[in-house]
Amino acid sequence: MAIRIDGRKISGIIKDEVRDSVEKLRKEGVEITLAVVQVGEDPASTVYVGNKKKACAYTGINSRAYNLPESVTEAELLALIDELNGDESVNGILVQLPLPPHISESRVIKAISPLKDVDGFHVQSAGALMTGEPGFLPCTPAGVIELIKRTGVDITGKECVVIGRSNIVGKPMAMLLLRENGTVTVCHSKTKNLREVAKRADILVVAIGRPKFIDASYVKEGAVVIDVGIHRNEGGKLCGDVDFDSVEPKAYAITPVPGGVGPMTIAMLMKNCVAAYRLQKSI
Ligand code: NAD
Repeated sequence: MAIRIDGRKISGIIKDEVRDSVEKLRKEGVEITLAVVQVGEDPASTVYVGNKKKACAYTGINSRAYNLPESVTEAELLALIDELNGDESVNGILVQLPLPPHISESRVIKAISPLKDVDGFHVQSAGALMTGEPGFLPCTPAGVIELIKRTGVDITGKECVVIGRSNIVGKPMAMLLLRENGTVTVCHSKTKNLREVAKRADILVVAIGRPKFIDASYVKEGAVVIDVGIHRNEGGKLCGDVDFDSVEPKAYAITPVPGGVGPMTIAMLMKNCVAAYRLQKSI
């Protein structure tokens, strides 16, 4: 039986580590604050924002909520971001995506100060990841690296295959695996012979956005399989991009959905808030 990589447990350990750092900083008179901006009342966004506020409360990070109506203009949102950029008591700025269609996500993300970009979506953060400069790592792929390492798997020299090339998961995931000295292949919707390429992987990271797409026929015996996908089926049950029951008997280790990658994203966001303070103070 494969090792089930327990994202709830590992994210709990990371949040405890963050809580310790926040407590130490507080003793030195330092408060860490995250500004969370939500536009409109999309129910899924409200759940995500609520979970982020809960994680802040747990780790001792102050969360400051800005709830703007769906009708807010891009200029008004940009003005708020400008104000938060200049507010020294704010360490991190998070704008919950997606934004309504009349607002450009790209312009909004670019408006966030790269020193407060705790989601790691700013082009400067992407550039820093590429070149190894100090900067924020996008939370989901950074969480995947933690899951792999804390399972005791050394990435160095391993064949790593990432399926998916989005800016928030696939591409930064590939860069992070490369940074850990993996030999990395990125696959996408135009990849030929996906099955054969995926089967070369010692470490397979799947971020396609298609429920249960990857079955055992895509997986090498003894591979580490990380499922980033998250879907709710007709019965309301969560599942990933990987067909867990098919792949699990073949894998060395595998993340379940739920309870795998999902909880890591928020834990890494909390870690980035502390990193933001250090980046701002250049320590
Ligand atoms: P996306 O739609 O932006 O990108 C999907 C990628 O998969 C694309 O690059 C596309 O080329 C590739 N792809 C699509 N069909 C393919 C196919 N048949 N063969 C090979 N490649 C194919 O999605 P995303 O934002 O990267 O998210 C991927 C999944 O991860 C989604 O299910 C999303 O909900 C989930 N997700 C989870 C978290 C988390 O915290 N757990 C965070 C972000 C995204």
